[in-house]
Amino acid sequence: MRTLITGGAGFIGSHLCERFLAEGHEVICVDNLITGTLSNIDPLRANQQFTFVDHNISHPLEVDGPLDNVLHFASPASPVDYLAHPIPTLKVGSLGTHNTLGLARAKGARYLLASTSEVYGDPQVHPQREGYWGHVNPIGIRGVYDEAKRFAEAMTMAYHRSHGLDTRIIRIFNTFGPRMRLDDGRVLPNFMGQALRGDPLTVYGDGSQTRSFCYVDDLVEGIVRLLRVDFHEPVNLGNPDEVTVLEFAKEILALSGSQSRIEYRPLPQDDPRVRKPDIARARQVLGWEPRINRAEGLRRTLEYFKAKVQGDKPAGGAEPARS
Ligand code: UDP
Repeated sequence: MRTLITGGAGFIGSHLCERFLAEGHEVICVDNLITGTLSNIDPLRANQQFTFVDHNISHPLEVDGPLDNVLHFASPASPVDYLAHPIPTLKVGSLGTHNTLGLARAKGARYLLASTSEVYGDPQVHPQREGYWGHVNPIGIRGVYDEAKRFAEAMTMAYHRSHGLDTRIIRIFNTFGPRMRLDDGRVLPNFMGQALRGDPLTVYGDGSQTRSFCYVDDLVEGIVRLLRVDFHEPVNLGNPDEVTVLEFAKEILALSGSQSRIEYRPLPQDDPRVRKPDIARARQVLGWEPRINRAEGLRRTLEYFKAKVQGDKPAGGAEPARS
């Protein structure tokens, strides 16, 4: 099996590369490192079955030899990142999806699109099931990500219907674990970094908005299972265990033993009020549900961030200067 993964040096992409190598695949990891990092794939580079290609997939890519799977995971995915790179985000979701679909078609490969719970926008149906069409502000600051992914889903279904391409679509809900970037701006790296440094935890709004956090290993298992079944409609992958952002902050304080206080900041524009996946479809089609609960996942992730925060400190243990 020869599997190409775009965004393979990112948080989720690097876990996928690792998993497919462990399954005996040859893995071609494509990334332009706009938000991904080489350190995520450093341990994989010694493996003869692994190739890294530094390429922006919004431009066409030629690959020698056959491909069995094309997995399109490239995109800035944290709100801070896609607000910093709005046009690359729109391009990788649209042109990048078109390019990867074309590549899969040329090679007769199976195709999997990494879509997102953001296609539901600020949802008016709760929890979110796949049949819900969403509530998205196309011209808001999050629109660059949401609409690109909605276009990507439409394009993927069009390739399936028009060209008979063997496609899959997953809608990924909030996922966490080792290899998230400490500075990616998402709630979990922010809170863990702040707790470990003794800085205040920045809760946006009053913290009553909800999210549901899935540990990365569970997500990867869902992806592997979906590739094995013949199913072309979108599938939600996430952990339905919902928590408010304020409760989440308190959990991280308790887990880390940090004395940090909580500081309230303005709620960003179009920040979804609630988010929780309905995973009935994944249960039925894949026999899948998350196995690692939030407490366990948070413990594992905290260990990773502890090492990262320590690594940020100059020798002698003094606090680094922060800009
Ligand atoms: N959030 C927060 N403090 C932070 C970062 C995020 O309160 O330092 C909130 C954010 O407003 C949102 C939730 O946490 O309601 C999740 O935000 P994140 O950026 O992780 O991703 P999202 O789920 O919004 O895509």
